[in-house]
Amino acid sequence: MANDLIPKHRLEYIDLKLKELIRRYNIEKWPVDCIDLLVRMKEKGDPPVRLLATRSLKDDTDACTIYSKEQGYIVKFNKNKFRYPFVTSADRRTNFTAAHEIGHISLEHLLIPARLKSGMESKMEELEANEFAARLLMPDRLIFSCNYHAFAQTAAYMNVSKAALRRRLANMGRIDMARSQGKRSCFKCGNTSFSAFARFCCICGDPIDSSKRGIRRVVYPVGIPQDRYKRALACPKCGTALDRNETERCSICGTYVFNYCTGYFEPGGSECSYANPGNARYCEMCGRPTCYLAEKYLAEWDGMK
Ligand SMILES: [Zn+2]
Ligand SMILES: [Zn+2]
Ligand SMILES: [Zn+2]
Ligand SMILES: [Zn+2]
Repeated sequence: MANDLIPKHRLEYIDLKLKELIRRYNIEKWPVDCIDLLVRMKEKGDPPVRLLATRSLKDDTDACTIYSKEQGYIVKFNKNKFRYPFVTSADRRTNFTAAHEIGHISLEHLLIPARLKSGMESKMEELEANEFAARLLMPDRLIFSCNYHAFAQTAAYMNVSKAALRRRLANMGRIDMARSQGKRSCFKCGNTSFSAFARFCCICGDPIDSSKRGIRRVVYPVGIPQDRYKRALACPKCGTALDRNETERCSICGTYVFNYCTGYFEPGGSECSYANPGNARYCEMCGRPTCYLAEKYLAEWDGMK
């Protein structure tokens, strides 16, 4: 594995610098677009960063970064190879290249002039920048929460090339995951928990195609804990603990203690009277909003984290 070549204390340093970067630029959602990130680094100007697209780089060079005390960093991209926004797997190589250059900057490799480094030292810096880029674009958390049965789609989801994703799995010693069938999950929100007869995803409301698996697998916490009859353990509105003998309403405030489909309350209604799980925003049977969502006991689903 390539990252076996990097000493352990340097891997820890990479993680530390990565955390600093993520905090500094409030990176909360993946995939990360590193061209966009470089632009934000330029805007922040600490350290000074300039971006340049040029035809003067050698053919086999995608990008390089130079540093001087006077000018700060200049990140040069090879104009012949630069395609942005990224469309194909080959274009997405540029995202990894940009992450690699961000790695050189974050790890402060360039503060020491190249002429003072041995060949081995320069090579090690390249490995470190690659490892930094891989961990930035494909953090463990993301790697372990994806399905790989549609490998090209998973790479596209992470905004990296197929080769970069394959290399990352190999470096983690988990190339076996590339061959696994993955688990059933919702294409849109990654939810993996479905009742036996569910026809709609209870998190995002998308229709379920039971033959398909999505890219991400995301666990959405049970907002309102329920017993096995899907009765809330405590009233979702006033918090009163509910015991088993109670009716379908809270005895204090009158709130329904089941997460009913809102169809149940439609005028002329009770078209669908399904009681949904404690994290359901949408009815698993008909896709209408649930009462817990309508009453704001649960927040609307707003994208995968
Ligand atoms: Zn490099
Ligand atoms: Zn969903
Ligand atoms: Zn109540
Ligand atoms: Zn319903």
